[in-house]
Amino acid sequence: MSTNNTTTSAYTDFHLQFIAGEWQTGKDDSSNTNTNPYNGDTLVEIQQATKGQLNEAYDAATQAQEAWAKQTPATRAAVLYKVVNILDQRQEEIVDWLIKESGSTRIKAMVEFSATRAITLEAATFPNRVHGEIRPSNTPGKENFIYREPIGVVAVISPWNFPLHLTQRSIAPALALGNAVVLKPASDTPVTGGLLLAKVFEEAGLPKGLLNVVVGSGSEIGDAIVEHKAPSLVSFTGSTSVGKHIGELANGGEYIKQVALELGGNSPFVVLKDADIEQAVKAAAFGKFLHQGQICIAINRVIVEDEIYDDFVERFLAHVKTLNVGDPNKQDTAVGPIINEKQVKSLKEKIAKAQEEGAKMILSGEIQGQVVPPHIFTEVTREMDLSRNEVFGPLVGIIRAKDEDDALSIANDSMYGLSSAVFTADMQKGLRFARGIRAGMTHINDISVNDESNTPFGGEKNSGIGRFNGEWVLEEFTRTHWISMQNEPREYPF
Ligand code: NAD
Repeated sequence: MSTNNTTTSAYTDFHLQFIAGEWQTGKDDSSNTNTNPYNGDTLVEIQQATKGQLNEAYDAATQAQEAWAKQTPATRAAVLYKVVNILDQRQEEIVDWLIKESGSTRIKAMVEFSATRAITLEAATFPNRVHGEIRPSNTPGKENFIYREPIGVVAVISPWNFPLHLTQRSIAPALALGNAVVLKPASDTPVTGGLLLAKVFEEAGLPKGLLNVVVGSGSEIGDAIVEHKAPSLVSFTGSTSVGKHIGELANGGEYIKQVALELGGNSPFVVLKDADIEQAVKAAAFGKFLHQGQICIAINRVIVEDEIYDDFVERFLAHVKTLNVGDPNKQDTAVGPIINEKQVKSLKEKIAKAQEEGAKMILSGEIQGQVVPPHIFTEVTREMDLSRNEVFGPLVGIIRAKDEDDALSIANDSMYGLSSAVFTADMQKGLRFARGIRAGMTHINDISVNDESNTPFGGEKNSGIGRFNGEWVLEEFTRTHWISMQNEPREYPF
């Protein structure tokens, strides 16, 4: 992989929006001030889009999609391979944007860059992996063909925490499979969540109109992007509360649409008494504090069997105390800033509530600006707010489980079902335990934070519907069309 960036000049003009293949000024009165969450620097001021510009984006997408769907698989794959090359050439520039716009530490920015590259490479194989079927018929003289076709126009709404990757994991498969996209990135990350990728796809030669990035306020274009006639699928990644609203809009309005909802999580991380405690401690720290805990699949509840609880707590506390907190741009920073003031406020409330509810705070620290240092709480019970709700920050509660059965019961006591993890020295026990968890993903002897471009990513219960990656997203972003052929006259009863 090349990381040489010397011959490529950095992308500019992120104050413009990418609509109908042109870089345009937003026409709304309001603007989005994009700031660095660590030092408050203004990165770019973006005039927001109007509903009229959203309509323009949908018109362009609808028009461009027909010709794109007719392109050969090789032509579509070539654009995706070119995107991979450009990502490689611009790795430093992209990592830099992730650090300054989303408050990613250098470590997290590299994790995100790699995941983005991997799904783009996987998507480049999709044009040649789409295939139909021929099924037998019970009607004499009939043949049944099942075609898999592009779904048309896809609306993509993405969050701010892994903006580059979570946008790309929708738009790369969508485009590879012959669809067009209208994307609304999160307000905190319009560049890494959309505009930067638009520059990359443009440079890769994607025909005009196929990818549109519309930066706008929720009140002006939030509902309109979902309710518009053009999209046949809405791919939403974000919180459960907004996801429920999107689901209702997509199916309660004039036009019914398919929805793919990737929502919040509350991942249990279970340490059974025979586990390698030292390894579990390191895993718990990384799986909890990567990106300050602002990951849907981050460890949200650490559940430890009674016999090793005190030992685990002592070693975990010692390890977390060694983590560097502060400037995300420094190589060895583990915990950087929280995305915005509103999130910092919600974390302060959670710290107060945990203490009110009787949890014991064994590690805290001064909150400086938007940097919240790790907070550890012990003697947390399953009823407490820290256990019931998604934390989305560097606070962790450790719950004591009586035994393996109790640990499983606690792990499953959640309205979410996204990711999960269990540590044990006995792989058979680990597998049995993993199969008992109601979640879309479980990792034995590893963290809950895993995403591979060829394995199904997604959740159940309030964590959403649908799966990303591999053939699962290939099905999600295409439509099924049964076509039968009656080769000889059929006899009808009347
Ligand atoms: P959010 O739900 O607040 O916002 C997500 C996106 O929806 C943003 O682009 C936002 O601008 C947009 N939005 C908000 N209101 C809207 C409306 N009425 N109509 C249309 N769009 C609207 O979530 P967030 O704070 O950006 O992200 C954090 C949440 O996302 C967490 O709950 C996290 O667990 C979840 N998440 C889930 C996954 C997953 O794969 N399951 C991945 C990352 C984040």
